[in-house]
Amino acid sequence: MDLIDLHQNTEWPARLDQVLSSSPVDWADRRQSVQTVAPPGLARLQRMSAVPRFDLDAVDPEVYEGILEDALAAAARGGAVYTELRLPQESVVYPQFMERFEAARSSVAEEFPGFDAGAILSMNLWDPMLRELCDAFGDAAAAGLAGIEIIYVPYAAEADWTRGRVVAEAAGAAGLGVTVPAGAFNASNLGSLAEIEQIGRIGHAVGAASDPGIMRLLAARGVTVEVCLTSAVVLGMVPAIEAHPLPRFLEAGIAVVLGTDSPMRMGTTIAGEYERARSLGLSDADLAAMTATAKASRL
Ligand SMILES: [Zn+2]
Repeated sequence: MDLIDLHQNTEWPARLDQVLSSSPVDWADRRQSVQTVAPPGLARLQRMSAVPRFDLDAVDPEVYEGILEDALAAAARGGAVYTELRLPQESVVYPQFMERFEAARSSVAEEFPGFDAGAILSMNLWDPMLRELCDAFGDAAAAGLAGIEIIYVPYAAEADWTRGRVVAEAAGAAGLGVTVPAGAFNASNLGSLAEIEQIGRIGHAVGAASDPGIMRLLAARGVTVEVCLTSAVVLGMVPAIEAHPLPRFLEAGIAVVLGTDSPMRMGTTIAGEYERARSLGLSDADLAAMTATAKASRL
């Protein structure tokens, strides 16, 4: 069965360290320590995803390409035939960023025949340069960008989607797909997002399980939910993997795909995520159906 990962962060600072350092960080050790310094929930998510400001302009093209290659090679080694990699939004103004992505992708495909990947930009809704970045969507789409992810605050409470709608419309007009991580810790934002036409996928959405109306809405709208099982446990979205609502999503007719989220920081592979789904009682046919959904839900 083909394994597809539709929710993977580049983990830029971590990959940068990996590419540049002669003594890379011991990620297994780092994962242990993060889990002891912050309690599960939003605090742990913020600690794990804190991205030090980096200046992409100062990144050498070979290093930029090396970071992408490092992330894609790890995905292929972890069993993925296809992954969608989320890149920092500043990439859109980095010279020939899609050519760099394509070079990294084809170099990994040489080692792993049949491997393919798409690129997604993570757009921060609070960024003062957001408009200017949106203006680059058309050129980026023409160069092969698959879609965008919208990151917003507050993450665990109802956000104002006025700006989000504008960004989603700009992406849609450029032919880019849109995904948004939401509902990790409760049902907030899921209803608003399901009403935005351009949003085809939602990441996590664990909180939907507490609201039958939202479950029906996601199924009726045909929104695909990106389930990241290990991430849900590590970040405390669910108390244990057995409590994950994945089987209930499928019963409710919601389209579901799998993702590794942050492989370096969480120690995930897509093969491991499919096995975890199996441990929740999913059959081979269920897993194959998720792969089919993933093929149809690529941005
Ligand atoms: Zn995520």
